[in-house]
Amino acid sequence: MHDKSVAQLIAGLHARQFSSVELSRCFLDRIGRLDGAINSFITVDESAVLAAAGAADQRIAAGGAAPLTGIPIAHKDIFCTDGMRTSCGSRMLDNFVPPYDATLIGKFRREGAIILGKTNMDEFAMGSSNESSYYGPVSNPWDKRLVPGGSSGGSAAAVAAMLAPAATGTDTGGSIRQPAAFCGITGIKPTYGRVSRLGMVAFASSLDQAGPMARSAEDCALLLNCMAGHDPLDSTSSELPAEDYCARLDNSLEGLRIGLPREYFGEGLAADTARHIDSALRELEAQGATLVEVSLPHSHLTIPAYYVIAPAEASTNLSRFDGVRYGHRCKDPVDLHDLYTRTREEGFGAEVKRRILVGTYALSAGYYDAYYKKAQQVRRLIKQDFTDCFEQVDIIAGPTTPGPAFALGAKSDDPVAMYLEDIYTLAVNLAGLPGMSIPAGFVDGKPLGLQLIGRHFDEARLLNVAHRFQQATDWHLQRPPDPAGEES
Ligand code: GLN
Repeated sequence: MHDKSVAQLIAGLHARQFSSVELSRCFLDRIGRLDGAINSFITVDESAVLAAAGAADQRIAAGGAAPLTGIPIAHKDIFCTDGMRTSCGSRMLDNFVPPYDATLIGKFRREGAIILGKTNMDEFAMGSSNESSYYGPVSNPWDKRLVPGGSSGGSAAAVAAMLAPAATGTDTGGSIRQPAAFCGITGIKPTYGRVSRLGMVAFASSLDQAGPMARSAEDCALLLNCMAGHDPLDSTSSELPAEDYCARLDNSLEGLRIGLPREYFGEGLAADTARHIDSALRELEAQGATLVEVSLPHSHLTIPAYYVIAPAEASTNLSRFDGVRYGHRCKDPVDLHDLYTRTREEGFGAEVKRRILVGTYALSAGYYDAYYKKAQQVRRLIKQDFTDCFEQVDIIAGPTTPGPAFALGAKSDDPVAMYLEDIYTLAVNLAGLPGMSIPAGFVDGKPLGLQLIGRHFDEARLLNVAHRFQQATDWHLQRPPDPAGEES
């Protein structure tokens, strides 16, 4: 059961091959036995899972089921869950139990999907390796010595290790796509504003976007159907109606124009990664797509622009954690200043503090024009590069990351080396575009991802290209060694 896709599980539930209670027990059991070595979950509430599964079985029996009724789904611990701890990977929120659901969580609940648990993540979603979590690092199921990627590393590892059929993640600069690539799964970051941000703990509000992570494009489409849509409670959520993301999955790729940005295939891309990306592109060409060289001339400015804008927004968003309103509060403060400083000193980890310092500096009087304003002007140029490309091509493709997963600890003392990991993913967020990563091969047993980037609100096309690719290849069907040695 644990090896089945979401689409197969839906069919199995409706054909009464198994119940949601049996299905949920299967995943709870696997988490209990196997997650000790992976650390992908922060919180799992078994009795709530089984109660929700029982209710889902009744709904299916009564004939009122929605597509995801009875399907267990893991959620990044950044989404507020009513009555269930939402830590955001931080000591600051270790004791925070939200009094309401994020809009996205509410949508899953209304469909009758089961909230299987809350997944591990980099603290406040800041990182590319899941090593900044207060709850300890996550291991990559393909090789426990490797990072799973970040910041949605728990979600990616849980799906790859078949501890959950699918999960949610968030992507501010690559945090769905990069861990999907490192763990050999499929993930899509929708257009900015496509999925509500209400109840999703804010990191960088103009960049943050939630999306699905699963083992195939088809499964991502099934989840996105539930997640996408306007939310009147989120002023940045788009009013454009969401589409049925499953409807166009099988469309032919004949005539599709795929842009290959020169800047994504040059220096910095490992040779063996480049070879696999190239053969993945040949597969798309064989299905009728045309490959066109394009240019994103401001690509070299994406890391500096992002690492000013994201920390600047983070520094203001995280000012709310003051020991008064949410979460951690230091013991016996002598005065208000002591309360603020000691609470924040104790509650935040090193990477979060680094970002707050950089962001506060970039926004301060005298430096605002030189850093924040300049970075916003550069952001505009980066966005324009994509607009120009999309006049010539329908989608853009390239590597998700410069190479496969690296070893735990390899970059944790070198923030700049860590930031360089994001070189191919950040621009998509700066431009607000949809982007996805799909499995495209292995280097020394480590998975690699092909990144697809679309026009605003063109998620259905990305999913279509990814699905057609997955119909012709089996990279997404490869599974890491199962420590329990179980057959599906
Ligand atoms: N790695 C990037 C960062 O550390 C992106 C994180 C994310 O997308 N949440 O900011």
